[in-house]
Amino acid sequence: MKPETKENGKIRFSTQSIFHFKCHSSLPCFTQCCRDVNIFLTPYDLLRLRQALKLSSGEFLRKHTIHYLAGAGQIPVVQLAMDPETLYCKLVTDEGCSVYEDRPWACRMYPLDLVMREGEYTLIIGKERCLGLLEKSSMPVNEWLDGQGVQPYVLMEQAFQSVMPPGYDPAKAGSAGIGKILFLAYDLDRFAGLLQDSKVRSFYEIDDELLRRVEEDKELLLRLAFQYIRNQLEELLEHP
Ligand code: SF4
Ligand code: SF4
Repeated sequence: MKPETKENGKIRFSTQSIFHFKCHSSLPCFTQCCRDVNIFLTPYDLLRLRQALKLSSGEFLRKHTIHYLAGAGQIPVVQLAMDPETLYCKLVTDEGCSVYEDRPWACRMYPLDLVMREGEYTLIIGKERCLGLLEKSSMPVNEWLDGQGVQPYVLMEQAFQSVMPPGYDPAKAGSAGIGKILFLAYDLDRFAGLLQDSKVRSFYEIDDELLRRVEEDKELLLRLAFQYIRNQLEELLEHP
């Protein structure tokens, strides 16, 4: 097992580093990390959350997020909304997260954060505020992450990141419209609505069997949305 290291004064963990941490409701900091925090959502985060809350994608986006298209590339940014008065996440209760089984990727990782170099992590917060970091309980980082159920989130985000065709520069002028296309991955019910058009189904070779399966399996629908988005972006690349 490797110990943690430091780079420019910041802690660096590898997947094999021993991580001392235990979060529980008797700590004085309990739920403080769910207040006034920026949680950026992936399309898969949004799908899990809105299924847990039994909301349509549009309802979830309206009630629980701040979302906008950012920069020249008009890339969608979707953030979990905090209560404007208390600044707490609207999904937290005195007992903790009300959607714990479906909490977002960033909440699963907390207090770890990704570093640009793959397989490396840092701490997003210090031991003075996240008291669970002072607990004796320890395990290798990769075991802890497995226990948090991050793997499906990593895989789905890798699939989403691959929707950009090679050579596509979202920041390039002339990319207007990209944001709306990418946003379909978040507003999945709107994508499902597009599939009701037989011309769209025929163009993308979606037969009745596939249509039936994606109606039942929203993760499959999300993967189909990724394919659709990639095709649309390739079109934009060829005919800007
Ligand atoms: S601040 Fe750390 S220890 Fe405290 S509730 Fe949040 S994750 Fe758990
Ligand atoms: S989703 Fe759950 S864990 Fe994440 S900030 Fe909200 S209440 Fe906390």
